[in-house]
Amino acid sequence: MKRILITGGAGFIGSHLCQRLLNEGNEVLCLDNYFTGSKKNIKQLIDNPYFELIRHDVTAPFFAEVDEIYNLACPASPIHYQYNPIKTVKTSVMGAINMLGLAKRIKARILQASTSEVYGDPNIHPQPESYWGNVNPVGIRSCYDEGKRCAETLFTDYHHQNGVRIKIIRIFNTYGPNMHPNDGRVVSNFIVQALRGEDITIYGDGSQTRSFQYVDDLLEGMIRMMASGDDVTGPVNLGNPVEFSILELAEKIIELCGSNSGISFLPLPQDDPIQRKPDISFAGEILNGWKPQVELEAGLEKTILYFDKLLKEEI
Ligand code: NAD
Ligand code: UDP
Repeated sequence: MKRILITGGAGFIGSHLCQRLLNEGNEVLCLDNYFTGSKKNIKQLIDNPYFELIRHDVTAPFFAEVDEIYNLACPASPIHYQYNPIKTVKTSVMGAINMLGLAKRIKARILQASTSEVYGDPNIHPQPESYWGNVNPVGIRSCYDEGKRCAETLFTDYHHQNGVRIKIIRIFNTYGPNMHPNDGRVVSNFIVQALRGEDITIYGDGSQTRSFQYVDDLLEGMIRMMASGDDVTGPVNLGNPVEFSILELAEKIIELCGSNSGISFLPLPQDDPIQRKPDISFAGEILNGWKPQVELEAGLEKTILYFDKLLKEEI
């Protein structure tokens, strides 16, 4: 049995990871400040004797004896990370320093949840890990993008300077149950709007693209990455390479929800990437042939069921 710390464990991805690592027979410490996460996501775990919940902010030092750390704490939706941009930078940078300091002291393995946002608005398509990105350092997305880039730097330097056993994954747009209904990201927004019969809000003309990964596929990649040899540090892309335009996504969700929602077109936010699609050949090589298994339609159906139940409970 391993003892595993998950920062941001009450969030969307973190809550799935807590459940899966408990199912696999580990002891899980879930650390969160509940900025975008919720106890509701992990309420079914509270009575498990191998699960521990800790209210803590990663910008402050933390100490515990664990074997592995998954560092997920950071708001991930543009509306939430832009709400207090200075705090977002602090969460990524000070959070990384605090967790790396802990990993160094207790000799734990540590995995950083980095992001496809490190590629910015990419001018290479699809994006391989060797691409350095096209990021605006002074725009509205910079607090997130540059915070995550600096965290990657810190991870790399703790590895080189102090021998900390690091793992960096770059997550591409991931969706699934446990996203907050007010999360603000595209999949949850569109599903909630379609289920409520409200207009679907497309920013821009909907021709921008994203590649959507179902959360179970990401978890498989994350866990394989953590289990890989010490020489495998990443960064490695984890995403589903099937690319859709945002307009196609809207149409698919309207159809799957059997909704009569219309579409309203709103202005495209500043620095919104035009296209995004992961090159996952490196992930396949180092993670025993890992590749996503869940197609968009199947993943959306599960996510729609989740939101449908949630919205009915709210009424
Ligand atoms: P989320 O907002 O649901 O989860 C983030 C969690 O971190 C929340 O529970 C939040 O309360 C917690 N948190 C935020 N600031 C904190 C702080 N200072 N101290 C302690 N806890 C804090 O988002 P998510 O989609 O689950 O994202 C999890 C991680 O994965 C994030 O680091 C995010 O950047 C990364 N990521 C996610 C995606 C995606 O598509 N979902 C893509 C790229 C990267
Ligand atoms: N988007 C949209 N309507 C929404 C929410 C998002 O058209 O209600 C667009 C957004 O402008 C972006 C894409 O969908 O082009 C993905 O947005 P999201 O915030 O989910 O993730 P990110 O931009 O960080 O990839």
